[in-house]
Amino acid sequence: MFDLDNILQQELEELKKQGLFREMKHIDSVQGPTVIIDDREFVLLSSNNYLGLASHPEVIEAQIHGAREFGAGSSASRLISGNMSLYEKLERKIAEFKGTEASIVFATGYMANVGTINALAEEGDVLICDKLDHASIIDGARLSRAILRVYPHKNLQRLEDILKNSAGYRRKLIITDGVFSMDGDIAPLPELVKIAERFDAVLMVDDAHATGVLGKSGKGTSEHFGIKKGVHIQMGTLSKALGNLGGFIAGSKNLIDYIRNKARSFIYSTALPPAILAGSLKAIEIAQRYTGPRERLWSNAEKFRVSLKGLGYNTLGSETQIIPILTKDLDSTVNASRLLFEMGIFAPGIRPPTISKNKCRIRTSLIATHTDEHIDRAIKTFKRLKHERVLCNSN
Ligand code: PMP
Repeated sequence: MFDLDNILQQELEELKKQGLFREMKHIDSVQGPTVIIDDREFVLLSSNNYLGLASHPEVIEAQIHGAREFGAGSSASRLISGNMSLYEKLERKIAEFKGTEASIVFATGYMANVGTINALAEEGDVLICDKLDHASIIDGARLSRAILRVYPHKNLQRLEDILKNSAGYRRKLIITDGVFSMDGDIAPLPELVKIAERFDAVLMVDDAHATGVLGKSGKGTSEHFGIKKGVHIQMGTLSKALGNLGGFIAGSKNLIDYIRNKARSFIYSTALPPAILAGSLKAIEIAQRYTGPRERLWSNAEKFRVSLKGLGYNTLGSETQIIPILTKDLDSTVNASRLLFEMGIFAPGIRPPTISKNKCRIRTSLIATHTDEHIDRAIKTFKRLKHERVLCNSN
């Protein structure tokens, strides 16, 4: 008899043998610079709560107020009856924050990418992605049935070559992460804008890790480079620096109207709960108003990165709050993460299929609420890890 359970068990055993089985830790506290797991305190080096807004009292208060006023859930998709008036406020706020005509909120960043790419591209189009673009971009591209072409990470010559050979396509879309989620480097946006213009291509930037972080007022990658025009589609998340949940697209009014009418992940899924909308509104307000946390985040990241490099570790091309530390191989990655955990640091190992086999790493991310003491503790731990020879040196 067909035994699904047995088949799955064999595949799971294989994953375990290869060191690729994934397990989760259970966190028993708010997401601060430290967390409690199994009654022990850990320095958290793997959170996207970059500005500390997930545990900000004003954001929490706004969320409670949102739930009191509008209830626990939104009970339908936006186009049916889930479109609470808070959405209009939030979308206006995002557009103002990003400096665009309009914006649209999705239930997650993943859904924003999948829905938008799938809405804008179809058979006969070509989507051109950086090799390190996020999985949600690749999934959106696959779903669209457009041709997907991938250029090596930040290799603009190869991007141009692809575009030169793409004259026959109806629409050409270049899609890049603003801050690359695994390497922590920044896309060469000024050059990408010029290339997109030269080849009449649409340019989409995923600012999931740049929103609230890059640029003086946290607008993202465009602000970081002082770019006002030329990025047609700016994607961002409410789930990382803004400490909440959801994704958004910011752009022209026509773009947003189009997405609202065409993006299936927007149309066929329940709207976010009101508390999330109210909390996100407050979070954007705080992220805009105060530059202090952003500055602290950057100085924390700089201090940690310089120290890791000083220890001889390879942090790849990191230039932001995301700092990978290359490991020797798959086994070393699992070992490094376990040893760090034993020493009170929570930083997971990243393995295939998230990255290629020869690029396994410990991925760390700094947040604004890490104190000097937290960072010193982490550095000391990485220093002790040198004896274990699990992390790669920079040469
Ligand atoms: N884009 C990038 C670059 C990301 O890193 C992520 C989340 N890891 C997403 C999109 C998806 O965002 P969300 O978690 O809000 O679904």
